[in-house]
Parts: sequence; C-alpha cells; structure tokens
Amino acid sequence: MQIAIKNKILRLELGDITESAADAIVNTANSALAGGGGVDGAIHRAGGPSIMEECRKIGGCPTGSAVITGGGSLYAKHVIHTVGPVWRGGGKNEAELLASSYRNSLKLASKHNLRSVAFPSISTGAYGYPLEEAAAVAMKAVISHLSENELPEEVTFVLFGEKAFNAYEKVLKGMNL
Ligand code: ADP
Repeated sequence: MQIAIKNKILRLELGDITESAADAIVNTANSALAGGGGVDGAIHRAGGPSIMEECRKIGGCPTGSAVITGGGSLYAKHVIHTVGPVWRGGGKNEAELLASSYRNSLKLASKHNLRSVAFPSISTGAYGYPLEEAAAVAMKAVISHLSENELPEEVTFVLFGEKAFNAYEKVLKGMNL
C-alpha cells in the first residue's frame, strides 16, 4: 500500500528491512549502540562488522535520538540508529519519545541529503510498545515530516509479518488523509 503526501510517498511493505535498497535503513538500537536481537541483530549480521566499528566510535545514543553510520555490505548506503522507548504502560512519555525517534531519524536523513528511508516498527518488538498505538505515532510523525520538508522523498515502513503489516494498514486507512 502507498499514499502520496504532497509530492512524496509513504509506503507500507511486508518484508525484511535488511533487504531494503533505500538510501538509509533505520535500526532499532539500544542506547549503548551495543547490538542486540530483532532488527539490530539482523542489520549487524547482514551489514558486517564495519557498522559496529562505527557505533563503537560514536559510543551511544539517548532514547528518542538518532545517529548515522555507513551501511557496510547492505544494499542501503547508510544505517540510521535510533533508540525507541521501552513501553512502561503509556504514562512515561513513551509516545513523545517514539515520535522523537522518527523525527530525529528523518532530520538526519534530510541533513545527509537522503532521498529514501526505510523504517521498521520501532519499539514494538523487545521494547513491548503496543502495535496499533505505535503505528499511529509512527505514521503521524512521518507524515508531518514529509509535509514540511523536501527530503526524504520516500519513506517505507518495512513490516516483518502480517500482524505488523495489518496493524499499520488499518491505522493508515483510518487516518482520513
Ligand atoms: P525494539 O527493541 O525497538 O522493540 P525489535 O527489533 O525488537 O525493536 O523489534 C521491532 C519490530 O521489528 C518488531 O515488530 C519486529 O517484529 C520487527 N522486526 C524484526 N526483525 C525485522 C527485520 N529483519 N525487518 C523488519 N522488521 C523486523
């Protein structure tokens, strides 16, 4: 599924983000940039050791922020590492921190003149954020960036499994754009 936002594109895809050919793919990192499971493990496995070497030099990233490295042997030339919030019931500023992860990732993409970015569903794996609530925050943040900035021109959510894809599709269709 895809929709136009001004002259830009927001797309939902089912798949594995490590196979994306976007200019940058976004990683669900932890604040130590130390690598982990889920998307993080998959990206480091597929992209090779140079990504971790760069992460070590950067040292860390607070929740809601983002940093950028090269893409190693991935198709994507860059990896944007962002740290989403751990879900603690919804009263600990999770929505604002999640929106901030998307916003800061997109700002970094724009600053580096990147045309296309692929996001996974940040925080909805090990960090436990409920899918539909995360989808609403994610797409609102992306749509607002796309409507106010020149770059990136294309944002794709690469969703791992029908459950995540269906949740994002349902939320996007319900947004009345
Ligand atoms: P977090 O720690 O931010 O919750 P995870 O990496 O544990 O991040 O999970 C985030 C989401 O990414 C989950 O919905 C998970 O199913 C999904 N996911 C896991 N592997 C991949 C992959 N290779 N490509 C895209 N999405 C993935």
